[in-house]
Amino acid sequence: MRRASTFEIIAARAWNVLNEGRPFTPVFVAGVFLLYHAGDWGQAAFWAAFGAALAAVLPLLAIYYVYDFPLYLRNYLWLPVVAALVVWDGAKDVIGLWLTGIGLYFFFTVFFWGTFYYHLRIGTTWLNFTRFWKLVLQHSDSTSGNAQEQLPKTLLLLFVMETVYGWTREGSSGSEDWVTLYLFMAAVWLMAWVLHRYLFDWKPKERSESPATLPPVQGAISRKVYVLVVDGMRKERFEQANAPFLKRLRSEGTEFTAMETVYPARTVVCFSSMFTGAYPREHGIQSNFVYRLGVRTETIFDSLRKVGKTGRLLGIAHLIDSMGDDVDAITAVMRHDRADAETVEMAKRIVEERNPDLMVVQLIGTDQIGHSRGVFYDDYLEKIEAADRLLEDFVGWLEKRGLLEEATIVVCADHGQAIGIGGHGHLDEGERWVPFFMAGHGIRQGIKVDTPHSLVSLAPTLAYLLGAPYPDHSRGPVLTEALADRRGEEAKEGLETT
Ligand SMILES: [Zn+2]
Repeated sequence: MRRASTFEIIAARAWNVLNEGRPFTPVFVAGVFLLYHAGDWGQAAFWAAFGAALAAVLPLLAIYYVYDFPLYLRNYLWLPVVAALVVWDGAKDVIGLWLTGIGLYFFFTVFFWGTFYYHLRIGTTWLNFTRFWKLVLQHSDSTSGNAQEQLPKTLLLLFVMETVYGWTREGSSGSEDWVTLYLFMAAVWLMAWVLHRYLFDWKPKERSESPATLPPVQGAISRKVYVLVVDGMRKERFEQANAPFLKRLRSEGTEFTAMETVYPARTVVCFSSMFTGAYPREHGIQSNFVYRLGVRTETIFDSLRKVGKTGRLLGIAHLIDSMGDDVDAITAVMRHDRADAETVEMAKRIVEERNPDLMVVQLIGTDQIGHSRGVFYDDYLEKIEAADRLLEDFVGWLEKRGLLEEATIVVCADHGQAIGIGGHGHLDEGERWVPFFMAGHGIRQGIKVDTPHSLVSLAPTLAYLLGAPYPDHSRGPVLTEALADRRGEEAKEGLETT
């Protein structure tokens, strides 16, 4: 059982520069350009021209930073590539650079990431590239492994850089050339704005509740709450899996059949929303690459402290970036067949040592295998089934120690997974709806709630169950449909009549 080292916490942040699509694009394009022109590094004129080329594409980089081009919107990224070829008629001059870019892109994703990295980190086979190339081509999320998004971005940026580089080296550009370039980039911005304004219509609608409109908290319902998160467990694959323990727990409790995650559906973003109750624009964590450490709004852990209670989150090191000292980070550098078992062992140790009132456990194995081997293969189902047995063991262990008395259990995923490298982020239907059910003390039995809900309801619901104030930006609503005495609803009705 190993905790994440400081080196790993820093290394995880560094890896995210290359793993998240946003920071990857500028770093990769600049790197390709430099490598392609490596022979010229000795000339001072090279560096001046390189600087000019990089400065010239800043507006394009800004557009790619601001706009996501999620799911099928990425297809439109090819339009400016074709337009640039027509406007500047320079395809023959960039073929070598483009081939270098394409080659390095597939080397980075298929071999470096999909094979070396995964082998060293989680022990997948050295032959993983035989499957991983397919995943890269289909892949649809916001990471750098999204070839259909990253290739047109890379080609356009390299094209414009090489064009401006040529102008600067030869001193050949006139003012009309620059006007054309800026008009071109303005057109790309306009295209991006129109696409995201009129075609991006699957972003979840935000809830409007706030702590002031939620039912008043009236003391604790549950003595303990255990939240068991099977990271990246796609809803329909969970249904197909042989997971008798979790399915029995679900049948003995209340299931929310239309539970939606947040956008963008990245792990750190989702966890931040689940445990603050706030949306990404409010808590400030907008991707797995965290620029500014720590959420900006209160977490459920802050709420619990206010009433002298304790909560712990056991999960991957990235979560420290968001929720700091409330997180016990397990190392994510571990054979994938050991990760979840070690997490459960560590969870037991934390319960033994600290016995927190709220214990959150993140099992990462299912997500990892989705990312490294794909969601529509048996490896992924087997991982869900293994998680089922491990959670049965953990809950049985809690029961033996009498810790399930007056305790409530919540089981969910932070997001599902889409095609390709178990992609998630842009909310295709496979990522959007997550398994979510509650069981145990205070929870109605054998109920299915079909009303659409959002994972932002988790934090206020935990506060309500544990008798703690709502985190300051909780949305909600509290999931009162699951509560046996429906106290929340009565309280709300009481308020309305006075
Ligand atoms: Zn996740």
